[in-house]
Amino acid sequence: MSGKMLMLILDGIGDRSVEELDGKTPLEAAETPHLDSFAEEGQNGLMDTIAPGIRPGSDTGHLSLLGYDPYEVYSGRGPFEAAGIGMELAPDDVAFRCNFATLEDGKVVDRRAGRIKEDTEELAEAIRDIDIGVDFEFEKAVEHRCVLVLKGEGLGGDVTDVDPHEIDTEFHEAAPMVDSEENRRTAELLNEFVEKTADVLSDHPVNRKREGDGKLPANVILPRGGGKVPDMDDLDSKHGLDAGAVSGIPLVRGVCALAGMDILEVEEATGGLDTDPDSIIEAVVGSIKDHDLMMVNIKGCDLSGHDGLPGQKVDFIEKLDSSVAKLKELEDVYIAITGDHSTPVTIQDHSGDPLPLTIWGEDVRVDDIDEFNERACSKGAINRIKGGDLLNILKDLADLTEKFGA
Ligand code: ZN
Ligand code: ZN
Repeated sequence: MSGKMLMLILDGIGDRSVEELDGKTPLEAAETPHLDSFAEEGQNGLMDTIAPGIRPGSDTGHLSLLGYDPYEVYSGRGPFEAAGIGMELAPDDVAFRCNFATLEDGKVVDRRAGRIKEDTEELAEAIRDIDIGVDFEFEKAVEHRCVLVLKGEGLGGDVTDVDPHEIDTEFHEAAPMVDSEENRRTAELLNEFVEKTADVLSDHPVNRKREGDGKLPANVILPRGGGKVPDMDDLDSKHGLDAGAVSGIPLVRGVCALAGMDILEVEEATGGLDTDPDSIIEAVVGSIKDHDLMMVNIKGCDLSGHDGLPGQKVDFIEKLDSSVAKLKELEDVYIAITGDHSTPVTIQDHSGDPLPLTIWGEDVRVDDIDEFNERACSKGAINRIKGGDLLNILKDLADLTEKFGA
């Protein structure tokens, strides 16, 4: 009988030797009896999510873990953000992540419009009435974030950002990154869109009220990270898998949605340090019966890594640890525990350092490793693999793979 597969992706878990932790990594310094017991009962190794020395984004990292070649399918962050908030996308569409921002005398004075939280749907409605001669969709996301999708044929995805990524400067005019008719057309449409957002938002009642309350108006939309929606075969057509995913971050949800996975709503998966691993694991245990593969992304470590806070990373790992114990109740499930990339507190960004990997399941060939961390796993039976091989390894264990040859 074939089994099921679960990838537990601890976002940004990998790290380097940290002086404040006596040269240990946060994962080595943390008390992790439950993660360690998976390592003890499983087989272990290191994993380069994309390839040795390559620093993955969360998007390209998850693509690779799902067996896609990110160099082939990754077309910029915009389409994944759009899919992550549930927008329906066609392969020819071009998507941009955007911010509500504040313009004063032609200069961007706040890229997040005072981190606007309220009334963004009213502003979005006004923006949807803009005419730029092609169909587009515009949706608000969390706080100041929003997404623009230009629809139709003859559009290009390679245009520069309008968002200047700094303040007290004018916003940029979009221009083709690669000269082509499609990219020139997209850049022109985008510039027209941005100018018109400034027109409709400057005098909008929501902004007049904000100014009256002493708040910064959200009087322009600044797009960035544009890209054409990738034409990805979903996991069902590629591998015959019915797959589901849980993640608190729209970017990862978008990757999973474009891979054709069911996205489970777990309110307690916040994507922040306040995320509730217990609720996430409970949701997974409850829904794995309906799927061949579940991917679970738990974000927390990554934030401490970006902020350079080793103690906070240790604390989050310990909070995670007790939640994973419940996974042992699952039967006929092969579980891979790893990350999408390292986010070392010493670097405060993603790095290419390989990740610890444990594969646990009924009949896996158990090795001598009894701790889940970077150094211990490096001595395990799996040795060192690429993230793009993980799905095949799990499929083989779960007896979901066709024989190659006679
Ligand atoms: Zn990540
Ligand atoms: Zn990160």
